[in-house]
Amino acid sequence: MKTSHIAFAGNPNAGKTTLFNNVTGSRQHVGNYPGITVERKEGSLLFQGTQLNIIDLPGCYSLTAYTQEELVARQVLVEERPDLVVNVVDATKLERHLYLTVQFLELGIPVMLALNMMDDVRNKGMQIDLERLSQRLGCPAIGTVARSGEGKQQLLEQITRSTATTTEGWQPLHISYGPDIDPVLEEMETLISTSSFLTDRYPARWVAIKYLEGDEEIQQRGAELPEIAAQLESIVDTLREHCNKTLNSFPEAIIADYRYGFIHSLLRQGIVIHPAQVDRMDITDSMDRVLTHKILGPTLMMSLLYLMFQVTFTLGDYPLQLMEMLFSWLGDSVTALLPEGHLQSLIVSGVIDGIGGVLSFVPLIMIMFIMIAFLEDSGYMARVAYMMDKVFRTFGLHGSSVMPFIISGGIAGGCAVPGVMAARTLRSPREKLATILTAPFMPCGAKIPVFLLLIGAFFSEHRALIMFGITLTAWIMALLVARLLRSTLIRGESTPFVMELPPYRWPTLQGISIHTWERTWEYIKKAGTVILAISILLWVAMTFPGLTPAQQQFFDQQRLPLQSALEQAPAAPRAAQLNQQLRDIDQQQSMTALQHSAAGQLGTMLEPVSRLAGFNWRTNIALIGGVAAKEVIVSTLGTAYSLGEADSEETRTLVQRIRNDKDWNRASALSAILFVLLYAPCFVTIVVMARESSWQWACFALFFNTGIAFLLAILVYQIGIRL
Ligand code: GDP
Ligand code: MG
Repeated sequence: MKTSHIAFAGNPNAGKTTLFNNVTGSRQHVGNYPGITVERKEGSLLFQGTQLNIIDLPGCYSLTAYTQEELVARQVLVEERPDLVVNVVDATKLERHLYLTVQFLELGIPVMLALNMMDDVRNKGMQIDLERLSQRLGCPAIGTVARSGEGKQQLLEQITRSTATTTEGWQPLHISYGPDIDPVLEEMETLISTSSFLTDRYPARWVAIKYLEGDEEIQQRGAELPEIAAQLESIVDTLREHCNKTLNSFPEAIIADYRYGFIHSLLRQGIVIHPAQVDRMDITDSMDRVLTHKILGPTLMMSLLYLMFQVTFTLGDYPLQLMEMLFSWLGDSVTALLPEGHLQSLIVSGVIDGIGGVLSFVPLIMIMFIMIAFLEDSGYMARVAYMMDKVFRTFGLHGSSVMPFIISGGIAGGCAVPGVMAARTLRSPREKLATILTAPFMPCGAKIPVFLLLIGAFFSEHRALIMFGITLTAWIMALLVARLLRSTLIRGESTPFVMELPPYRWPTLQGISIHTWERTWEYIKKAGTVILAISILLWVAMTFPGLTPAQQQFFDQQRLPLQSALEQAPAAPRAAQLNQQLRDIDQQQSMTALQHSAAGQLGTMLEPVSRLAGFNWRTNIALIGGVAAKEVIVSTLGTAYSLGEADSEETRTLVQRIRNDKDWNRASALSAILFVLLYAPCFVTIVVMARESSWQWACFALFFNTGIAFLLAILVYQIGIRL
């Protein structure tokens, strides 16, 4: 005969004992738990050929060992491992009683709900949608009236059904505890599972949560592995201090907050219907009525995100320009101080430009993080995720992916550097990775001049339309590629549907400042060093081997007569003309140097292949330079096209030169636009991507994005020239 072990558990006064008596009748045995005065009550019955051994656990509010009852209840669960916990809850106080339920679910033990006191529920005129509740919780729920025996039959039937189907091993529910706690929890979880600390009994994440909650029993057990315990405790201490400083709260309280948030959102939308008790809605609920309303919610959200985007880039522009001015002044000063040559070029183009490149992002990143911190700390970010989740989930992403996309240029003109960093609001590593890898597809501010140049040359009458098409293409590509990655390389479950909606609260100024500064400083510290190194590498690639002495001499000789002529006739307009000619020679010289550099040779070498997409070697050099920074594309094209033919007046501008070049036409312009939109992220972005994921993935993006971009560019070009 099959025997099942069942535990009745619940808050005190939920009607557990009454239900237990009702179910087991007189077949009971009452004893004590060893060494303590807590009563141990057991009973059994035969139901449909199954022997059900039931234990009535002491009533408790939580599974943290704060009281003896809680400790006992927990010990029975993990030591005796019953086949099923019947969680008896007072259905009139569902929200409060589910707090314990959530902890059973987090523990992973098979659970079913007995919603007791259904008579009181009816008397109060309330209604509870049992089916939806059970769907949302992912465990069966039966209504009962323990006093009268109503629902007993269904309860027992469900018990046999549940014990017949429960799978091997516990399946813990993962609740998110917000941006401050989640990463710490993950770190602790890894530590706990790699050291197998208590994992024979508890899920690793659960042990981590108990540590954060200051569970004494778990801490005492830590003595078995003192080294691990010390590490865990120091992590907890750091977090405790951090929470105290930023949120003016402590981990236990935040954990409880998020659990209640989870329950609260679970019970939203008509699971419990109160009779005309609308005035009991708390502030969060009434705010959510507007802020997550079907139509109003997304509208407000889009406006808010748009506003945020505008503020970031408008406000960010001032310090950005200031930084640029500062660094160009610094560059000029060093140019003046140092003799011309490789050292000067290295310091100005390699070091100063490199550091400038890093630092000029700082104001942008700070402003963005101030706003993200505000949205996160206030609880609104969770609503954004909640609203966007359905759409993004279809593509293997998460509701929170919308932010990185928008910041990266989802509204044209963003920047992928802060965009990739904004992906930190995503907690699932897979969804974060998919977001990070696809966010650089967006039309960032540095790509825009390239688009404008090509649109100006070939599609000047359809400017707005093409720009719109570019943005749309970026979104479509990002979503499709995310889908592709999530069903191949980054396959894996999506995080459960976003439901944790913590209560709204006013963020503290201090909290926001600390959150912002931590993230910004991390960027400066980590990205700074690597970016400097890569910047120097790129400088080398675009500088060496440089001109041969003969070439150098050739240009010097061209300059000589002009210079002496200038000395003799310093007056305008002749001087202006001579100066222009000198500048042209300078440009030709730098172009020749670029062409002979490693990057230039690569561009030339690639020409046979790149022709498939309509790119000649000049375009190639510009595109290779664009990996350093997309801003470089237009300026490099400018240098590249200043070479060669004698200029007549109407071919002075780059737009005209490109339009007159036989290699350029509408097809190649479109293919170049598509390529620039999608190919390798600039190296600052790559470094940040590496920091947020790993170097393998950052390199993957470099090649994968370029590959996809090139294939599509070929497609567009080949179709284009045939039309
Ligand atoms: P326990 O602390 O969970 O064991 O709860 P008890 O079984 O001792 O019940 C607490 C109180 O609730 C007792 O007064 C019961 O008579 C009462 N009670 C239990 N079940 C029901 C029910 O379904 N409906 C109503 N109205 N009262 C109940
Ligand atoms: Mg009792």
